Amino acid sequence: MAVQVLDTMARGGFEQVLAVHDRLSGLRAFLAIHDTTLGPAFGGIRRWAYRDEEGALRDCLRLSRAMTQKCALIGLPGGGGKMVVLDRPDLDLQAAYRHIGGVVEGLGGRWYTGPDVGTGPDELGWLAETTGFVTRPGPEGPGELGEATARGVVAGMGAALRALDGAEDWERRTVVIQGLGDVGERVCRQLLELGVGVRAAEIEPDRADRMSAELGIEMIPPSREYDPPCDIFAPCALGGILHDLTLPRLGCRIVAGAANNLLARPEHGDRLHERGILYVPDIAINSGALIRGATFHLTDERPPMPEIEARVGTAVGEILDRALAEGLPPARVALRMADERIQEARENAFGGAAFRPSKDASGSEDPDAGEDENPGRRD
Ligand code: NAD
Repeated sequence: MAVQVLDTMARGGFEQVLAVHDRLSGLRAFLAIHDTTLGPAFGGIRRWAYRDEEGALRDCLRLSRAMTQKCALIGLPGGGGKMVVLDRPDLDLQAAYRHIGGVVEGLGGRWYTGPDVGTGPDELGWLAETTGFVTRPGPEGPGELGEATARGVVAGMGAALRALDGAEDWERRTVVIQGLGDVGERVCRQLLELGVGVRAAEIEPDRADRMSAELGIEMIPPSREYDPPCDIFAPCALGGILHDLTLPRLGCRIVAGAANNLLARPEHGDRLHERGILYVPDIAINSGALIRGATFHLTDERPPMPEIEARVGTAVGEILDRALAEGLPPARVALRMADERIQEARENAFGGAAFRPSKDASGSEDPDAGEDENPGRRD
């Protein structure tokens, strides 16, 4: 079924959707700005070989809304926006990203953009040639985004332990990490410093060997990391890994990791809840890089790591305390809290005549729901 763009926008409260085409570079892209009630929109540019335009547009809408929710949960004066670029072999990347930079610049600061799948340091450099509203790589930019995410993840783990057991007691904890990349390795190093017993799975064999030797940790064969009994399972690889086949295997008490969109579908959060496993919502725990990047764009200041830890720890603590008090799955509580904050801001901004979403805030009747082609999501 084709996406009815205006209907979908009206139902989900989207402000603006742009279709972008550039004849010279071969660029075809969508930009969605979901909501700027709390402040300018933040969100990266995803470049992916989507099956078709409809899949790309759905992804764009869904990702931009998730950014609004993320900003609201973490208390940032910002909203959500996202661009998806339909990747193909003949796309002239440099020209395409310079063109996109012109589009971003034309929005005059309504949307600040940055990295995502397919948009790394090279692409950010080309964007920066034509716009100032982009996360710059290197010393001119906010810097240390992976570290900020990892610090937030460990702070969120601490909040989960406090919510469940009343204390962190790091030295008697065990954590299994999935994926020792930029964020996973940093999480691992912090946990080892705290005295935690860490094991990890890494799918890239050379990296697994190197990490095991450097960090002195035991590696678990990939795809066996779901099973071992442990306090925390920390997915720091790809999204969509919590589904019908993996959920029954989980040996952990808590799931808390950096990867985006961990739940294959919203109901998998309910299953975790039924199994008595505390799930720390990804949109809150992995927001360290967003805090660092957005604050830098808005104020020219790089928030120090302890401030990021405190913000993520507090946000995660609030969600989990409320979820435990109400006996509800934390993923649903997080979305509800985000939507409440956005709604409150809209009512303040528009004197009570604000838009109200027509569907369940849990996303279970998501108007832009559809098959997810790409689980490897970033901010
Ligand atoms: P990365 O690509 O540097 O690291 C991912 C690692 O996971 C790689 O080493 C890869 O080999 C490994 N891996 C992939 N599939 C695996 C599997 N099935 N089992 C074991 N290992 C596997 O990515 P990153 O920057 O560390 O980000 C990790 C996750 O966190 C991603 O999902 C990303 O979207 C999310 N995230 C990252 C940031 C950030 O600041 N980098 C911010 C928010 C969210």
